[in-house]
Amino acid sequence: KPIVLSGAQPSGQLTIGNYLGALRQWDLMQDAYDCLYCIVDLHAITVRQDPAALHSASLDSLALYLACGIDPKRSAIFMQSHVPEHSQLAWVLNCYTQFGELSRMTQFKDKSERHNNNVNAGLFTYPVLMAADILLYQANQIPVGHDQKQHLELARDVATRFNSAHGQIFTVPEPYIPPVAARVMSLQDPTKKMSKSDDNPWNFVGLLEDPKMISKKFKKAITDSEDPPRVRFDIDAKPGVANLLSILSGVTGKTVAALEAEYEGKMYGHLKGDVADAVISLLEPVQKSFTELRADLPTLQSVMRTGAEKARSRAAITLAKVNDAVGFVAP
Ligand code: ATP
Ligand code: MG
Repeated sequence: KPIVLSGAQPSGQLTIGNYLGALRQWDLMQDAYDCLYCIVDLHAITVRQDPAALHSASLDSLALYLACGIDPKRSAIFMQSHVPEHSQLAWVLNCYTQFGELSRMTQFKDKSERHNNNVNAGLFTYPVLMAADILLYQANQIPVGHDQKQHLELARDVATRFNSAHGQIFTVPEPYIPPVAARVMSLQDPTKKMSKSDDNPWNFVGLLEDPKMISKKFKKAITDSEDPPRVRFDIDAKPGVANLLSILSGVTGKTVAALEAEYEGKMYGHLKGDVADAVISLLEPVQKSFTELRADLPTLQSVMRTGAEKARSRAAITLAKVNDAVGFVAP
């Protein structure tokens, strides 16, 4: 089976953007692929985290992965920091990645503007650690949202460069970006992407949010002042309405064209109410299962320990090849 690897940072509560762009695809890939899914806590500290909040967000993420259908019988589920090979390979790959390449990464530019009092070296080399996550497992397919496409291209470049210097060590990975809702936008500023670490909670919808709050957030979502108002998909002229349509399409499986026809002559408020209801019913079983799992620490521990063991035994094979290829003496 082809190998799949993906992860999300425990930098806040997972959002419907993370679900539609990533987690839902992870779930769908579990039968046809050999899947590894991690909680990338090493990545999360590239932005300052409160330790207690990081600790609990990591366990929340684990319980949410399970509640969203990620199944420890079929997939390895683990904490990135439990597999030290990620950091070890990242160091080697840092020495195969150019300063200029990293300087072009748009996520670095965005995040260093948002956190301009802490533009640390880890934030700059974030994509190298991500390349290590992927290349360690010889992953073929990487399900990610649209925002990670550039990082994935960098991982491919680094893999290709390393291979041409040292022979076929790494599989060169392919992105898998979902056809709909790969870029869920902020509800208050639909020209930027929805992010779980956003300071303004009105910009995102968390997977654990209360239904009343979800309705309020969609009701307050920014639309536009087209006169007369028309529900149609036009990203440039009507980014807010386009975003609501993509979310509804992502959640219900109806095409955007079918939705445009369905909402012909209807008001934005109608669309907002329906998006909220669809998201609430999608999340109801997820939240129920989350509550049970989050209270069951022994199960969470057993899942992450088993996952880390599986991951480590595979990561060690690649790391040994890399160490040998660069000329390190075997211990
Ligand atoms: P942060 O603000 O801390 O960066 P985030 O919401 O961007 O959080 P990540 O942990 O960086 O989430 O990314 C996890 C996965 O979710 C990645 O595959 C990413 O591409 C995907 N993703 C993130 N935001 C969106 C979005 N708005 N729409 C679709 N997919 C998304
Ligand atoms: Mg992100």
